[in-house]
Amino acid sequence: GDILKKRKIAVLGARSVGKSSLVIQFIQNRFVEPYYPTIEETFTKGINYKGVEYECDIIDTAGQDEYTILNSKHAIGTHGFVLVYSVTSRKSFDMVQVVYDKIVNFCGTNSIPCVIVGAKTDLPQSNPRQVPSTEGQQLAESHQAAWVETSAKTNYNVAKVFELCLAEIEKRLPNNKTE
Ligand code: GDP
Repeated sequence: GDILKKRKIAVLGARSVGKSSLVIQFIQNRFVEPYYPTIEETFTKGINYKGVEYECDIIDTAGQDEYTILNSKHAIGTHGFVLVYSVTSRKSFDMVQVVYDKIVNFCGTNSIPCVIVGAKTDLPQSNPRQVPSTEGQQLAESHQAAWVETSAKTNYNVAKVFELCLAEIEKRLPNNKTE
């Protein structure tokens, strides 16, 4: 049928890992160097995935620390989560685990539709990489989550993030549920 499937996706992670840049690259196809920091914003975009049209609300969150990074507003009614760290920041990688645990706690299930994203892969020539790919992969495996490395600057794997997220959502939904 032609039922439009609506999906709500929250993008979470430590400050400055590149959440806004990722979302802006995906929505507007551009990399804006000094993007407004920490303004929470929701963008809507149609995504055609495997022949199905989805209307996605993508929430670029603006949490500051482990206490404000996930509020109930991000978790209620949210279908999928994108957890972002920077490959040049070990601290931001540790934060992914913290946020993941909070989501599990909030949702009361271990089966969270989630993509773990290692951002800023173009950087390591100037800033040393602190998180090897294998560690990102392992973390994702341990949570049955998807994992991908991206660069919002070079538009590497940016669309892939949201396709993976839809895939994780669909995997866990009863067939063809519209909400
Ligand atoms: P947020 O706080 O997580 O939303 O992070 P921002 O998107 O505001 O990005 C923080 C800083 O990292 C900004 O100066 C961005 O220009 C920069 N940045 C974000 N993504 C990338 C990337 O893929 N490559 C590089 N080199 N810089 C990035």
